[in-house]
Amino acid sequence: MKERPLLSVNTERPTRDQAALSIDVEDWFHAENMASAIGREAWAGCELRVERNTMRMLEILDKGKARATFFVLGWVAEKCPQLVRAISAEGHEVASHGYGHDLIYTLRPSEFRMDVLRSKSYLEDLTGEPVYGYRAPCFSITEWAIPILKELGFRYDSSCFPTVAHDRYGRLTGMEVDTPIVSLGDSFYEVCIPCIQLGQWGLPWGGGGYFRLLPYWLWCQGMRKILRSGRPYVFYIHPWEIDPGQPRLKEVAVAYQFRHRVNLHRCEKRFAALVGAFAWMPLCDLVDCWESACSRELPQGLPS
Ligand SMILES: [Zn+2]
Repeated sequence: MKERPLLSVNTERPTRDQAALSIDVEDWFHAENMASAIGREAWAGCELRVERNTMRMLEILDKGKARATFFVLGWVAEKCPQLVRAISAEGHEVASHGYGHDLIYTLRPSEFRMDVLRSKSYLEDLTGEPVYGYRAPCFSITEWAIPILKELGFRYDSSCFPTVAHDRYGRLTGMEVDTPIVSLGDSFYEVCIPCIQLGQWGLPWGGGGYFRLLPYWLWCQGMRKILRSGRPYVFYIHPWEIDPGQPRLKEVAVAYQFRHRVNLHRCEKRFAALVGAFAWMPLCDLVDCWESACSRELPQGLPS
């Protein structure tokens, strides 16, 4: 497939705080840290815990009157269709996390297209609503995937993590540490995961293991710093991160065990506190706000 260059059109900044919340709906055995111990063929035999954990997150969001985006793995949707319907019925955005949790750069473009289409079509059948958002497994977004996402009718991707701090993340050209949302042309947007600039590096400040590792007060301070700068903020978490009772596999290397399990026992309380501490919206609303703010500002020639 011929690669098309990405277009970085504008980065105008809306003025009020904008925090979006996202949940990558997969089970404990889908996490890449478990891949060395649990192959794809073993998934069907693993204890399914995602439904209970996601329902618990829905309760927390309901209590905090927060709406979120749920990037649902197609594999999970097929096992738990009632869960996807419940997410949609609560007024949250249902988006796609692909089907089989393969890192994009390990697939051929045709395989990627099939994986994403299978998940998107199934989610749309379940909810009766169009699926506009995509998040790549392990943020493994790759340049050639963007035209495919556009062609399949997605409106945004939220997989770019402009940091050098992780071995599995993909890259998109033109995304810098302080890049918030970038138009890639054709009314398609890249919604980046936030980082905090530290020297020349981007310190990941979006969620996951970093949220569990750092002190809660420091996390909130970083979030406020990002929001005060006029950038939107995007948080992500997985249902298995509030589940300290999930199986512990001794075959998994110590470093991966640490990444996967650090502070799992504290995470539900922290997540509930975070939901209550900020005003949250789903990513589709964040993209809408961004788009309308840019269209208001551009004719007046007010670049930030
Ligand atoms: Zn994932």
